[in-house]
Parts: sequence; structure tokens; C-alpha cells
Amino acid sequence: MDYESDKKIMVEEQLIGRGIRDRRVLDAMGKVPRHLFVEEALRSRAYGDHPLPIGEKQTISQPYMVALMTESLELKGDEKVLEIGTGSGYQSAVLAELCEKVYSVERIKSLAVKARDRLDSLGYLNIAIKIFDGTYGWIEHAPYDAIIVTAGAPDIPKSLIDQLAVGGRMVIPIGDEFSQTLVKLEKGRDGITTTNICGCVFVKLVGNHGWKE
Ligand code: SAH
Repeated sequence: MDYESDKKIMVEEQLIGRGIRDRRVLDAMGKVPRHLFVEEALRSRAYGDHPLPIGEKQTISQPYMVALMTESLELKGDEKVLEIGTGSGYQSAVLAELCEKVYSVERIKSLAVKARDRLDSLGYLNIAIKIFDGTYGWIEHAPYDAIIVTAGAPDIPKSLIDQLAVGGRMVIPIGDEFSQTLVKLEKGRDGITTTNICGCVFVKLVGNHGWKE
């Protein structure tokens, strides 16, 4: 398999071709080896235009969705970012290329452990992972300049809004179990504004301020 050329084609066709413009996001996704975030049997499909299973009935998001959500966070390099739903660790690695420090929360231990191993072997030193219900956020390191939730929620957990810095941005899929809207929330001095980005389908955000199992 020629993963390098698969990766280039993914960036050209799926990302640039669909309007992703942030050069830093394109470079990060052109760098992170997505095939190392899925099981060996799925590696040949790692750069395809779709999500893939990662075990425990969870998925690694489609490349375009990762790019779109990341671009929405408008990262410049010095931010502290909170991610809810570590999953494979792929989105965490993309974020780690673009900001100072990533705090990622995952509720399923086996996924968090695997993600930690992968990220360690790739040399990512600026990602902290915690096994916990991410609907509570990660209070110890708040406030965050950006928050990304990679599972679908019935509404925006209040604790996450509270842990977002003034001037910060959050992206989160909001809707029912089967389909959601990707929502961008911005916290200004005068209050909160939300924008709908597009329709999307994510696995459920399961937790105290999310769906019940
Ligand atoms: N960002 C991931 C996508 C993971 S899919 C990647 O790049 O691979 C969504 C993940 O959210 C799953 O791993 C799921 O277990 C996790 N999740 C769901 N509810 C959660 C919660 N309340 N707290 C933390 N993680 C949660």
C-alpha cells in the first residue's frame, strides 16, 4: 500500500475539493498517518471518504468531517483545546499539530488505552487523555480556547459552555440518535452565538449530560 499517495489524494479530493481552505489544517491532515489509527485489516481503507469502525461500536470520523470541525476551531498555534471522545486518537493528533496542548476525554477505557499507545509511539507529547464522562468536561484545566465534541449530543452540555474561555469556539453535533446538526458556538464578552454548519451523523455522546446508555 502506498499510504503517502493515498493521503495526498485524500487532502486534494476530499478536503481541498470540498472547500477546506485553512492551510495549517490541510498540512496537519497531510502529515498525520491515519492508517495507524485503525486496525491492520482496515488500513487499506484508511484514507477513503467514510468513517471506519474502531471497536466497541465506535468509529473514527470521515476525513472531511475531521477537517471541517478542526477548521471551525480557527486554531493559530497557542491554544489549549478540549476534545470529548478520544476514540482512535486521530482527531487528537490532528489537533496536536495545530495547538499547544490537547486535553482529550474518553469514556471507554480500552479505546483510551489504545489511543494512548498509538500517540506515544508517534511521539505526541502535547496530548493528555483522561478516562471519564466527558459531558462534565475536564474542569482542572479549564478554561479552554476551543472545545470539540466528537459524539452526538441531545443538547450542548452546560459544563462545556462554562469551561470555554471568553473568545473561544466550540463545535458539537446536536440532534437525535440518528442524525444531527454540526453546531458552532462562540463565546463573546456579550454572550453566546451559535451557527449551524451542516448535517452530520455521529455515535452517541453517552453520559450524565448526554444520552443514557
Ligand atoms: N475523535 C475520535 C472519534 C471517536 S467516536 C477519532 O478521531 O477517532 C466518539 C467517541 O466518543 C467514542 O470513542 C465514544 O466512546 C466517545 N464518547 C461517547 N460519549 C462520551 C462521553 N460522555 N465522554 C467521553 N467520551 C465519550
